[in-house]
Amino acid sequence: MPSDRDERIADFVKPFRVEPGSKVSLGKDFDPAFKSGVGSKKQAKDLLARGIELLAEYQSRLYAQDTHGVLIVLQALDAAGKDGTIRHVMSGVNPQGVSVHSFKVPSSEELDHDYFWRYSQRLPGRGEIGIFNRSYYEEVLVVRVHPELLERQKLPIDQREPGLWKRRFQEINDWERTLNDNGIKIVKLFLNLSKEEQRTRFLRRIDLPDHNWKFSAADVREREYWDEYQKAFSDVLTNTSTEWAPWYVIPADRKWFARVAAGAVIANALIDIDPRYPRIDDEDREKLQKIKKTLEAQAPPGAAADPFAAGQAVGRESV
Ligand code: AMP
Ligand code: MG
Repeated sequence: MPSDRDERIADFVKPFRVEPGSKVSLGKDFDPAFKSGVGSKKQAKDLLARGIELLAEYQSRLYAQDTHGVLIVLQALDAAGKDGTIRHVMSGVNPQGVSVHSFKVPSSEELDHDYFWRYSQRLPGRGEIGIFNRSYYEEVLVVRVHPELLERQKLPIDQREPGLWKRRFQEINDWERTLNDNGIKIVKLFLNLSKEEQRTRFLRRIDLPDHNWKFSAADVREREYWDEYQKAFSDVLTNTSTEWAPWYVIPADRKWFARVAAGAVIANALIDIDPRYPRIDDEDREKLQKIKKTLEAQAPPGAAADPFAAGQAVGRESV
């Protein structure tokens, strides 16, 4: 039975989910400024703090159970807040169980392989949460918007357009299904930013000296392809939101809201997995009791046989 809390989280993330099989037109279907009932920054902060605690607890169980991994795929246009989302949402989790990989322009070695190659090497293992800051989805986004990038991939002549993008969607769906069936749950987040908010954030990067390093003239050139990207993203959402790996469109015009929403979607996925601390069987418990006796017998004079058990007993008395 799901708890009230789990149901609240499931209800909260529903409006962000792209229904598998639905046709998406980003500009019409999703509002980058949507706040979904979260009234203020203060309220968002409290919600995020609770979400971070929840993620920490679930990650610890995921790690202990060691049967499932979680792959978080983050896609967005420039300045949508991917880095900040990772920094805030994952701030409470044990670094030992998390990895982040940022994918840039592929190297010549990477281009010499099939397009999944570099991504498959970075997948999380069981017990781990892996974050892809950009991902194999760039292969149907930036590569689609800039055909010269496809040219560099040196595909066999009969494997080029037309039909290439539909085929890649299918290949991605199949790959994700394989991962899902093998215990790697995929959480796909698209941070949906408005064109006007992107303009403001670029200006901020120019105006604030400490933010200058984040500014890239290339990002402003990329902004000229805004409409092409909106179309490419709409097509990705339409074709690759599946029952086993649905997309979530996160309203990103308010950073504080995007963080709460992203945290909730990740928490919802972990709740779905429902990882548990492993319990041992009677035989192993008996073995432990035998070892305990041996250790207790080694207590030096004056020391409690088992100081931990003694401490617990004191704790119980004082309750
Ligand atoms: P950033 O994430 O801002 O550091 O930028 C990374 C750059 O790498 C972006 O301009 C992406 O479009 C580019 N990039 C990422 N993946 C690919 C890819 N598969 N092919 C071409 N360019 C890519
Ligand atoms: Mg950039």
